[in-house]
Amino acid sequence: MTSETPENGPVPADPEHAPAVCLRDVTFSYDGRPALLDVNLDIPTGEFSCVIGPNGGGKSTMLKLVLGLLRPDRGDVRVFGVRPAHARARLGYTPQHVHYDPRFPVSVNDVVLMGMAERHWGGRYTRAEKEAVAEALNEMGVADLRRRPFSELSGGQRQRVLIARALVSDPDLLLLDEPTASVDLAAGKRLVQTLETVAQRRTILMVSHDPAFIYDIVSRVVCVNQRAHIHPTSEVTTDRLRELYGADVRLIRHDMRAAETDHAHA
Ligand code: ADP
Ligand code: MG
Repeated sequence: MTSETPENGPVPADPEHAPAVCLRDVTFSYDGRPALLDVNLDIPTGEFSCVIGPNGGGKSTMLKLVLGLLRPDRGDVRVFGVRPAHARARLGYTPQHVHYDPRFPVSVNDVVLMGMAERHWGGRYTRAEKEAVAEALNEMGVADLRRRPFSELSGGQRQRVLIARALVSDPDLLLLDEPTASVDLAAGKRLVQTLETVAQRRTILMVSHDPAFIYDIVSRVVCVNQRAHIHPTSEVTTDRLRELYGADVRLIRHDMRAAETDHAHA
């Protein structure tokens, strides 16, 4: 297992083979109100997983714990076998809510360069950094938007640029919080198709309420409602989703089959 000292932090037994994300008995509360309770979760390296669950279920909180933006009250969070703070350089993140002032004339190029901020120590950007911006935009299929004002883009284009910002540091784990929420269904589907390509080289953990087209792509689904349960995609049924979301779940999966799982989400 692991040993650790306060001075040098965790020493994983085998960091090469550690899962991308490992949560053990994680509990987190805001002002005494629990958002997550005894969460256990393993996300293997290289997999594309989707996090679903009702509003307020704790999905964004879980991502912030993985990022190290929040620390658990109890339990242990590991990213590639080490504490999130030690894995930060390997993480890319697109938050659920991105605040920007449309009057502030920031270009797509500037937005993606911001993803470099943690590594960039002032002065001019290097050629390698500029190339990384081009590469990230290219990976997201929006290289042609580079000089455009960010405020003029459509919802789908903005989301792609924000994911490019997360990709610019070439992360091994990409955490996406509802990237399909603010875009229409067709644009969301195209976005997920692009992410399927991105996932060939990285681990992706994505919160999304649009399971319909995502289920064809992801290998597992994590249901989060204070507690977390992990399912192979094939086990996520309409009934299960209805328990999570209520009757109006947007579900158009074509190969839906009945499968019983061994727990309730209430
Ligand atoms: P989800 O992303 O699944 O909608 P969140 O992780 O955002 O859920 O929220 C989980 C719970 O924690 C909710 O009850 C929410 O109101 C509460 N919460 C989230 N952020 C804060 C915060 N900054 N301060 C206090 N409570 C919060
Ligand atoms: Mg959220």
